[in-house]
Amino acid sequence: MSEFALIERLRRRVYARADVVLGIGDDGAVLQPRVGEQLVMTMDTLNEGVHFPADSAAADIGWKTLAVNLSDLAAMGAQPAWCTLSLSLPAAREDWLEQLADGLFALADLHDIALVGGDTTRGPLSLSLTAIGRVPAGTALRRDGARVGDDIWVTGTLGDAAAALALWQAGTLAVAEPASAALEPLRQRLQRPTPRLRAGCALRDLATAAIDVSDGLLADLAHVCRRSGVGAQLWRDLLPASAAARAQFAGEALAVLQCAGGDDYELCFTAPPPRRAALLQSLREAGVEATRIGRIEAGTGVRLLVAEGGADCTPPNGGYQHFG
Ligand code: ADP
Ligand code: MG
Repeated sequence: MSEFALIERLRRRVYARADVVLGIGDDGAVLQPRVGEQLVMTMDTLNEGVHFPADSAAADIGWKTLAVNLSDLAAMGAQPAWCTLSLSLPAAREDWLEQLADGLFALADLHDIALVGGDTTRGPLSLSLTAIGRVPAGTALRRDGARVGDDIWVTGTLGDAAAALALWQAGTLAVAEPASAALEPLRQRLQRPTPRLRAGCALRDLATAAIDVSDGLLADLAHVCRRSGVGAQLWRDLLPASAAARAQFAGEALAVLQCAGGDDYELCFTAPPPRRAALLQSLREAGVEATRIGRIEAGTGVRLLVAEGGADCTPPNGGYQHFG
């Protein structure tokens, strides 16, 4: 398939938005922001073999490329609107591209996101997506607002994606096909992550700082601490785990997945204790559970305690880092 046929194929599937004045097909897209709002932009690249297993299904790759970017917008409290996609492909296989688009547009349509442009080149399989979202001016969630005494919260459960990856590496799980009832929830979390967009918007008026858990809880919370000029204590035994993860891993092995495993795309955020009830209520309305897992303290870095007031069990290295 030619580059132009490919672009035409993508263009035909794009969701129509009134604020897209000019989309795919010109030298640039023309977008109409609204008065009183600010735009939030983010970009993430997924490389074959690094960010997804080489044998992943094309539809899962398409979904995940958008999902990881939407997770960043969620962590900013932004509502997504537009995206651009840069595709580097070894060869344009029609059925593979159709499936890639299926996965990408399944998630885009769910959140009314328009693909407004991109670039297509030949090269090793790599996908770069830029997502743009909107917030009422001055309300974006940031990493630098955590204050001493704030509670630390996390949405959903931790370690599921890392559990799936570990099972795949052990040869117990195939990532490209539906798994057994016991393993399928874990595989879904790795290949089809759910960006916590409604939760992010709900947190705009309640959280003091937020980040999405992409590299591992300890590493990501450390970013919040550094940017906010504070330290943190986390309570290991309070970290939420799914029933599916608990059925496969326990004890230290599960804790490692929860603390250092990447790809969960949950939101970790901070808020003062008087907001606890309001937070839980707002998040419940946004369709997600949240768990209080620690406290912001004076100092630097993240300490892992067994539980509140318990022994220190900080692991020697925090989370997954590229070239780390
Ligand atoms: P140019 O040479 O001006 O950069 P291209 O031929 O690269 O134009 O792209 C033509 C149009 O198709 C542009 O509007 C561009 O944004 C869009 N486009 C190219 N690749 C993609 C893609 N992978 N996804 C979405 N839009 C794309
Ligand atoms: Mg181009």
